[in-house]
Amino acid sequence: MRKIIADRAGKIDASGIRKVFALAAELTDPVNFSIGQPDFDVPEALKAEAIRAIEAGQNKYSQTVGDATLKAKITERVRDEFGWDDPAALVVSGVSGGLLLAFLALIDPGDEVIIPDPYFVMYKHLVNMLGGTCVFVDSYPDFDLPVERIAEAITDRTKLVILNSPCNPTGVVYSERQVKMLAEIAAARDILVLTDEIYETFCYDGECPSIAAFHEKSLVLRGFSKSHAMTGWRLGYVAAGAALRDVVEEMTKIQQYTFVCAPTPFQKAAAAALDYDVSDLVDAYRRKRDLLCDGLRDTFEMVRPGGAFYAFVKAPGTAGATKFVERAIKSNVLIIPGNVFSEKDTHFRVSYATSDEKIRQGVEILRRLA
Ligand code: PMP
Repeated sequence: MRKIIADRAGKIDASGIRKVFALAAELTDPVNFSIGQPDFDVPEALKAEAIRAIEAGQNKYSQTVGDATLKAKITERVRDEFGWDDPAALVVSGVSGGLLLAFLALIDPGDEVIIPDPYFVMYKHLVNMLGGTCVFVDSYPDFDLPVERIAEAITDRTKLVILNSPCNPTGVVYSERQVKMLAEIAAARDILVLTDEIYETFCYDGECPSIAAFHEKSLVLRGFSKSHAMTGWRLGYVAAGAALRDVVEEMTKIQQYTFVCAPTPFQKAAAAALDYDVSDLVDAYRRKRDLLCDGLRDTFEMVRPGGAFYAFVKAPGTAGATKFVERAIKSNVLIIPGNVFSEKDTHFRVSYATSDEKIRQGVEILRRLA
């Protein structure tokens, strides 16, 4: 038989999150703590922008780098925020699109990519698919940035370090002190840092410091999926200072032959989204965070998350998180086992992007199962 499927496809397996999501279809009215998207809709004013753009005929390809107005706003924002003189930017089809382009532009077979564990699962699969090697650096039990362990993991083959703060799945926000310490090490060892800041707006107890303010070789990835509930609109951006201009240019070249451009009418709405204040939505999510944490913390071992909309909670007992998750699903609560995001299976992820009523119900069921 002629072999049809390429070897690289075998290097990834179907998302563990999607498997739980598929199970949800069989349950009646479950408490769905499984999926990572906001439970609010795109703000009306931004929907109106997209509709206006479609009706005005802005339905063709945009420039590969992105709509000029949107790109100018992104450039202005990162210039102000990071003090970059002449930033490079590229509008991409979601942060997922940006990650694929970045890895295609950067990773050769055998290159090592340092990733704090637990991690957003896409990093691992994309790196493996490209023949790179993931070097996981344990961040248990507090999930703070493991700066010293990262320093120890750097070798001649290290291509980049990936940061994700606020973090999916832990909800942890790295402190300025930690980020600065890593910036110093990365500068001394001449290491590029890819910083996935898709949850930057969901930051509840103060600022979310970006390493890009302290390390010139930082590639910043941000998106609109979470902040403005536009997961289906597929929009994000990549930005870097002059030191990584060539990386952004290579990514732009690859975008020409893959995504071509991000969806044009939605780029018009994204320009408006950059000026749209979502603080009331963030306040609501802070309250959801409190509702969940206050409900679980007496019964479960957990770190209080400062951002995103996840908590990474230690499973009770010694049977492993997957067993606990199976029991939770049987009781109508969908959570994700930690081994989807980690080399360990000790914790489970709760996404509290759901109604307050569902959070209360879910907390009660989880407490009963503990
Ligand atoms: N990075 C992280 C950490 C995420 O959690 C997600 C979405 N779950 C993404 C990137 C991708 O988001 P999108 O492609 O919708 O922008």
